[in-house]
Amino acid sequence: RPGVTQADPAVARRLRNLGAASVLFYREPIEMVAARGAWMEAKDGRRYLDCYNNVPSVGHSHPQVVAAVCDQIGRLNTNTRYVVEVVDTYIDALKAKLPESLENVVLTCSGSEANDLALRVARAATRARGVIVTETAYHGNTELTTQVSPSAWKRGGKPDWVECIPAPTPKTARNFGESVARAMAALQARGHRVAALLADSIFSSDGVYADPQGFLDAGVEAVRLAGGLFIADEVQPGFARTGSAFWGFARHGVVPDMVTMGKPMGNGFPMAGLAARPEHLAMFCRDVGYFNTFGGNPVAAAAGLAVLRVIADEGLEENAAWAGGRLKSGLGRLAKETGCLGEIRGAGLFLGVDIRKAESGRPDPDRTSGIINGLRDEGVLIGAAGKHGATLKIRPPLCLSAEEVDHFLGAFERVVAG
Ligand code: PMP
Repeated sequence: RPGVTQADPAVARRLRNLGAASVLFYREPIEMVAARGAWMEAKDGRRYLDCYNNVPSVGHSHPQVVAAVCDQIGRLNTNTRYVVEVVDTYIDALKAKLPESLENVVLTCSGSEANDLALRVARAATRARGVIVTETAYHGNTELTTQVSPSAWKRGGKPDWVECIPAPTPKTARNFGESVARAMAALQARGHRVAALLADSIFSSDGVYADPQGFLDAGVEAVRLAGGLFIADEVQPGFARTGSAFWGFARHGVVPDMVTMGKPMGNGFPMAGLAARPEHLAMFCRDVGYFNTFGGNPVAAAAGLAVLRVIADEGLEENAAWAGGRLKSGLGRLAKETGCLGEIRGAGLFLGVDIRKAESGRPDPDRTSGIINGLRDEGVLIGAAGKHGATLKIRPPLCLSAEEVDHFLGAFERVVAG
């Protein structure tokens, strides 16, 4: 694979096994053997501060989650056709975090499945087909969700029932409603009414656009006036990451018609879900049924319940706000001294930093990749996002401490200065 070293036999074996579908970070991929809290450990004994992973969100190998999973798998795990107390206890706890109107929750194994189902429910409920997404969005790997994931399109790919709108940058966010209206007109011109506006409420693949709070509202209103629904994809911002609300949509003061979630939901145990209004789900289930063998199995529910408890008991939403604030202001200080650092955006422990050419201000994907690989050599893990791949994506576990923030900033300063 271009850009990836095959000198390491473990890497070569992985490339042989997964072939063209292999996805590995870094020019020199890392073989990991263990992880705890915000730290991961490689086979060669090196430790890495994980500032990328949105899966073990309450901390790697969190003892409460590990205990809940081990206890439940030693007691009962089964397909989902039985009543099992922990499953409904979990769904009730999750619903307590959601808008009251979303009374039904369907649990799945991946965010892709949740978004796939949400789109199908939206189409059944509206009897319309059109979908509006942002121009570099990612919503999943099924056929339907790939069709609404511009960031996954390589050649062609855009169906005529999809319309893309620009990422809501701080300059354009106020025109979000007008962008949505234009997209609906374009769909209409091709004979499609709008079924849904599907948006990741922190626009992570687009480059992390969190502010100004409230900008989603006008787009949601426009879609509803035309008979469509708003699906909030909370796979990235959900579960307290933004520090200012449990869900990304809540920062914008909107109540979605459907909410999809995944990634941090089970702290690494594969689980995801869709919350919907009963009448919408009923309309879908009148036409076709829905069953998911593993979705919401008792072990997943036990993991999910432990995650909700840890977020509350350890004050992780507050920590995301506090540690995220410390991180953002540290980055802001460095940006004043370093020409390549552009806009710093985000909320809580979900930050995006634009990397640009100092002379022209243009996006600099090569330098972005250089910084990511340089940080890897310093023992710090982050990623990239955005239309040009020139935005650093920084997303550490919610338990990040002051010392860990400062460790990150020290490494970052050395790398951008180098
Ligand atoms: N939605 C968003 C916003 C995502 O970032 C992702 C995964 N990166 C998905 C959906 C799909 O989730 P999964 O990989 O669990 O299928």
